[in-house]
Amino acid sequence: MRRSLTDQLNRPLRDLRISVTDRCNFRCSYCMPIDMFGRDHQFLGRDELLRFEEIDRLVRIFVDHGVSKVRLTGGEPLLRKELEKLIQMLASLSGLDLTLTTNGSFLADKAGRLKEAGLQRITVSLDSLDEETFAAMNDVRFPVKGVLEGIEAAEAAGLTPIKINMVVKRGVNDTSILPMARYFKEKGHILRFIEYMDVGTTNGWSLNEVVPAAEILKVIDAELPLEPMESNYRGEVAQRWRYQDGSGEIGVIASVTQPFCGDCSRARLSADGILYTCLFASAGHNLRDLLRCGSSDEEISAILASLWEARTDRYSEIRSSETTDLPKVEMSYIGG
Ligand code: SF4
Repeated sequence: MRRSLTDQLNRPLRDLRISVTDRCNFRCSYCMPIDMFGRDHQFLGRDELLRFEEIDRLVRIFVDHGVSKVRLTGGEPLLRKELEKLIQMLASLSGLDLTLTTNGSFLADKAGRLKEAGLQRITVSLDSLDEETFAAMNDVRFPVKGVLEGIEAAEAAGLTPIKINMVVKRGVNDTSILPMARYFKEKGHILRFIEYMDVGTTNGWSLNEVVPAAEILKVIDAELPLEPMESNYRGEVAQRWRYQDGSGEIGVIASVTQPFCGDCSRARLSADGILYTCLFASAGHNLRDLLRCGSSDEEISAILASLWEARTDRYSEIRSSETTDLPKVEMSYIGG
């Protein structure tokens, strides 16, 4: 076992997010706006995607360097054919926390098979319970009911605890904060409110559209009193709060108003094998070419170590009106 890696700011490498496809059946305004990702958009070809054996090999190298949590993302990860095979491979790594983030549209059908393959838990993105608002956020007419059925299927399959991610955009779905809190409090799932971020270059982000986490908490606390909780571990992205009546917890991810780069332990791997050390990076490092040109595990491991140790990423801490127009990788390409 090698020593765990830390970057220049003394942050360990703990968390690997792997996009398994850049395709999605939704067109969420914050990560895949329809005017930029329409019919003519060129998605990655099959040969460009990392094969499951390649992902498995890279994950083993990352685990050797201290990664203990792997999250599969996309695009929409459940669009990747035979994803269960990859889950089965990764689940054989002992001690690995293996999870997945999905828009929930295929979950009712797939939850049982994902669990059988070895997936431990799941996060579902859902921005509103109201059909019109939900459609305004994702630009498709997929019924909210279908996502809720997926969440029920995930619970029945034992993919728990279930987390629900809601991106809050002022003037679009901020009126859904309380209905979402009431619904998921009743269901016992952990709802996490995410400040709307300037991911990529296509979502036309503006600071005016951000609802600060403090405001979200105030809205909920006025009806459903809250109290703070301890983090589960250093570097946890969500601040945890629980309902004072003991009926469960929520989280807020305040990456715009209270950046947490100082504890950021996340690396991201795109579906075609490019490694990014920050969600807002403009360039990454091609690991797929290393795999396909015959590099040994030791060589890839050494390159990973040098990349991580040189890392100085802290975009959210330096965000300003000037930085939002800088070139950045698209979130649909590397996952959230
Ligand atoms: S902005 Fe980059 S460095 Fe900061 S928390 Fe997000 S991913 Fe990590």
